[in-house]
Amino acid sequence: MESFAEHYGAMYQTVNRCLPGVDMTLIDKAVEYAREKHKDQKRKDGSPYIIHPLAVSALVAEMGLDMDAILGALLHDCIEDTDASFDEISKLFGTTCAELVEGVTKLTRANFSSSEEAQMENLRKMFMAMSKDIRVVLIKIADRLHNMRTMQYQTPEKQISKCRETMDIYAPLAHRLGMQKIKWELEDISLRYLDPASYKEIMDHLSAHKEQDEAFMHTIQEKISSRMHTMGINATAYGRIKHVYSIYRKMGAQDKTLDELYDIYAFRVIVDSIPDCYNVLGHIHDLFNLVPGRFKDYISTPKPNMYQSLHTTVIGSQGIPFEVQIRTWDMHHTAEYGIAAHWKYKQGAGSGSEKDFEWVRRLLESQQDTDAEDYLNSMKIDMFDDEVFTFTPKGKIVPLPAGSTPIDFAYAIHSGVGNALVGAKVNGRICNIDATLQNGDIVEILTSKTAKGPSRDWLNICQSNQARTKIKQWFKKEKREENVIHGRSSFESEMRRMGLPLSITVDPEVGPQLLKKLSFDSWEDMYAAIGYGGLTATKAVGRIRDDINRAVKVQNNEKVLNIKTDAPSDKPNRHGINGIIVEDIDTCMIKFAKCCTPVPGDSIIGFITKGFGVSVHRMDCPNAQNRDEFHQAARWVRVRWANLADQPFETTLELDCITRDGLLLDLATTMTAARVRLKELNGKDLPNGRSTFTVRFEVKNVEELDSIRNKLLNIRDVVGSRRGHN
Ligand code: MN
Repeated sequence: MESFAEHYGAMYQTVNRCLPGVDMTLIDKAVEYAREKHKDQKRKDGSPYIIHPLAVSALVAEMGLDMDAILGALLHDCIEDTDASFDEISKLFGTTCAELVEGVTKLTRANFSSSEEAQMENLRKMFMAMSKDIRVVLIKIADRLHNMRTMQYQTPEKQISKCRETMDIYAPLAHRLGMQKIKWELEDISLRYLDPASYKEIMDHLSAHKEQDEAFMHTIQEKISSRMHTMGINATAYGRIKHVYSIYRKMGAQDKTLDELYDIYAFRVIVDSIPDCYNVLGHIHDLFNLVPGRFKDYISTPKPNMYQSLHTTVIGSQGIPFEVQIRTWDMHHTAEYGIAAHWKYKQGAGSGSEKDFEWVRRLLESQQDTDAEDYLNSMKIDMFDDEVFTFTPKGKIVPLPAGSTPIDFAYAIHSGVGNALVGAKVNGRICNIDATLQNGDIVEILTSKTAKGPSRDWLNICQSNQARTKIKQWFKKEKREENVIHGRSSFESEMRRMGLPLSITVDPEVGPQLLKKLSFDSWEDMYAAIGYGGLTATKAVGRIRDDINRAVKVQNNEKVLNIKTDAPSDKPNRHGINGIIVEDIDTCMIKFAKCCTPVPGDSIIGFITKGFGVSVHRMDCPNAQNRDEFHQAARWVRVRWANLADQPFETTLELDCITRDGLLLDLATTMTAARVRLKELNGKDLPNGRSTFTVRFEVKNVEELDSIRNKLLNIRDVVGSRRGHN
């Protein structure tokens, strides 16, 4: 049982030592607040719960963090375990403090345990991404350290799972943040529970050799210190046994027993300046025998986590090798406290946020080390802009692309969940299924057996390819009839747009060839594919367009042969028929091509067809291009307008418009005012707020057509016009 007084005293002293002159009344207020909130809770050993936040805040103060972080540490379990709220904490202790507490709470709720090695990096990434503020990570690490120190009161299952999590997440994070001391302690405690036999073996060995080791270290230390003294170098030298887990790892890596393992001593010489470091190095190499190949200069080339020191391994008079690390006090603080040393020694208490992240970022960007990439991947805060990490209510992590919605979440769980989706709860609250999910959100998908399945809108809402694919699959399977109708209509409108005859698809000879080219067994299958989005109509038509054009030409050739033999001979009429004079042909039927609806004044050309006689096109009609082609050349005939005025000609204009209410009415009014005989006025909405209107009407000639066209273009929101050709 530990007492409140004891922990309060320790915290009070640490805070006063590490943040001299700080406002203790605010800290006391937070202590009282937390004590009151946790008053009904006990630690596993029966101690009052408040000793835990007290211990964590002492650790945070020890790291050198600022006032907000210390308050945050005192209150870090309040939101999770008591009725305290963000707003209340924010009101009493400030928004920054409340945000830190909330950040820690999110991490507490998250489940970072995973048996898969592959997920580990993701978990660490998420841990950082969720934190936003580096102080949240540091408070959480302090929280874990205190919980590890009191691990003996937990059940064996809990011990194992917490220690695994510590080895997987917290120790690597402490390492990357350069917090060597904490990393070592976390590793040693974890080893004690994860491999108790080995831990005991090493501890027993160390305690059996304790006197021997201490005597050895004392001798070396004396030797170094006296040389420093003689040379007038202000230096602190001391020896230590490397930490248990590092010895454990060396045993494994070198496959040696403890007795065979010599490399367990480390000495430190801490000096005032960098020149002193190199100076000391010379003296060490003079005092002892150098082990070749072990010298490392981390001063000129710091480690990715900012660690700086000179490392060398030497052999003393007893033939025992040991490592010596030489560094300045500055480097020492960085080595001990890592990123936290930034608050403690470089900037003083009080600030935080942006500037600190800038510092982290610079730190990350300057990495040249081999594991720099790994480091980059796992440390960047605020830099995973493209990813968001969410959770199931059971704590399973679900990584999604940034901007994802509950729809994406549901499909990430299982397509069955997505298809049965009827609603969602985020952090316990009902929300829209198109809401944007944030890091750390706990998402619960509400499903129903009677759900109608996904809606087509979802394809535009969801962010993940996974969801999109699964939704498409559903439409493919469940909605075939609907897909066929949708698909057929897009296909046909695309065919019309390209001026291709729809009848070609049912042509007994050409139809099957086209299907083969499209790799479908039936037109219905293809329509279905277009309907569910597996293929676009544009693509489908594009793939068969040339074949259709070729087939049409061949068919027309056959027809022209027929015309020459079967054509009925009518009386010549040089005045033309329907206002048209066909050169070289005295008599034939005339019709105006529907595709370009020529009117008097247009340049025109005729095309001999069988059933229809001569079809008159505008020269600029797409269907009248390629007139020189071998098969067709003979069938194009020159035609001109007969001087028969006042005969009405039907023509079509297509108008490009910005969609708005009342546009149709404006069009109709304008046409009426121009005394035009309107035959058809149709509108169709396009995406992006656009629409097209088709206007079919009668005019006498191209001049009249142009004047009407100008009137239409003067209507607001009519932005373009085209002579129609369908
Ligand atoms: Mn805690």
